[in-house]
Amino acid sequence: MTLIFSGNDFKYELESVVKLFIPATLFDIFYEVKTEYFSNDFCFIRRKKGKQKTYLYTVCRIGENIKYKINCILNSADNYEGNCEIILARLLFQCLTELTGKSAKWGILTGIRPVKRVNKMLDRGMSKEAIEKELSEKFLCEKSKIDLAYKTALTQKRALENMSSKSFSLYISIPFCPSRCSYCSFVSQSAESSIRLIPEYVERLCDEISYTADVISSKGLRLDTIYFGGGTPTSLYAHQLEKIMKTISRHFDLSALREYTVEAGRADTITREKLEVIKNFGADRISINPQTMNDSVLETIGRRHTVKQFIESFKLAKEIGFKIINTDLIAGLPTDTVESFKKTVEDIIALEPENVTVHTLSIKRAADLNRRSDTVIDNPAEQMVDYASKRLSESGYDPYYLYRQKNMLENLENIGWSKPGKESLYNIYIMEENQSIIALGAGASTKLVASNGHLKRIFNYKFPLEYIKHFDLMLDKKNEAKEFIEKNILGSE
Ligand code: SF4
Repeated sequence: MTLIFSGNDFKYELESVVKLFIPATLFDIFYEVKTEYFSNDFCFIRRKKGKQKTYLYTVCRIGENIKYKINCILNSADNYEGNCEIILARLLFQCLTELTGKSAKWGILTGIRPVKRVNKMLDRGMSKEAIEKELSEKFLCEKSKIDLAYKTALTQKRALENMSSKSFSLYISIPFCPSRCSYCSFVSQSAESSIRLIPEYVERLCDEISYTADVISSKGLRLDTIYFGGGTPTSLYAHQLEKIMKTISRHFDLSALREYTVEAGRADTITREKLEVIKNFGADRISINPQTMNDSVLETIGRRHTVKQFIESFKLAKEIGFKIINTDLIAGLPTDTVESFKKTVEDIIALEPENVTVHTLSIKRAADLNRRSDTVIDNPAEQMVDYASKRLSESGYDPYYLYRQKNMLENLENIGWSKPGKESLYNIYIMEENQSIIALGAGASTKLVASNGHLKRIFNYKFPLEYIKHFDLMLDKKNEAKEFIEKNILGSE
């Protein structure tokens, strides 16, 4: 497939639209018009400015079939970049819908945070009807997705009622796992190969925690939530987790903390001793993720634990007193079937976790797993996600955060579901970008939200070895964060 842009450079957005219909493909891209570019399948995307009007049109060919769409706008207030881009995206979407017969339920909303857009509309005072109209007519979203995004935004509004603009969250990265799951693309070092790094990593992480507390805490920001993610934080020994958590308690003021989460992740890393340490240091939320309740699928994806181990860990966490347990599932895993996924959903609902997060496998990962992307294009992920949504709604869960990734199977989304009042604030913050998150450890990225909504990201070194090696340089980045906080978050007072 060849993409030819003329009079515009909206490649990023419009290539994403084409990928909705023609996924897992590399495109030839040109910014000039030559006859030979039109010899195979193509999308021609053109903006042509006349004296009084601007013409926007798309011509697409797949095989022998060609579709053509045009729009014309006056060279007035309508002729600005953002509007031209959206109109061209719509025209392209319409051509490709007709040519392929496929539908894409999020329409031309190809970004990863559709709910953020709805939140902005609500903040502008738009009514439900106006929001629905804009999402439907301007962005071509289908009703099911509009309802989902709107409902999610309302749940978030309720959950965030008491958020202070002078608060922040702390993210602690533990990028180690006991082995690598075959669908994983996170930076997680298999503890088998990098176990020697863990003791030094824990030392440096504790140094980073105490240094950060000195630099940031005195600035008057209140610590609101803490989240340990990975990797698999419970890959560490209990005494290593204890050291990190103790360092946090010593150096940060936890008196106003509203939420403390440790993502345990894999059942094969969970022990009573570790859970007790986590609980004793104040974490009351934990994530234990089966992904599927089918042992043969677990084996296919290289997750070295069984369903039985997951259930035992879940019950142990309940017995120890964790108030909120999240369980992650993945729709579209290789060898999983709709029937098996439905059973997974029912088995999870029967356990009554407070949160359930339903992910959809991305095509890239599926393709890596299967080596041939065409083996996964017909994956029944959509039926799986629809079933999960229906059953979770019926069982008293509300959607409270959602995000999309490029290349997701069937152009779907990941949805976090929660029993009312049990939502994870941190998950909302990370998706909606409405609170600063100071992130520590290898691969962590700090996101600072200025009073005017402007974002600044500061990245730590990605891999544990470089994190340890360049530790002093990394501490300098904390001063960068401090300056930004003083000028852009507190400076507005
Ligand atoms: S447990 Fe999670 S982070 Fe670790 S390898 Fe598996 S998918 Fe990746």
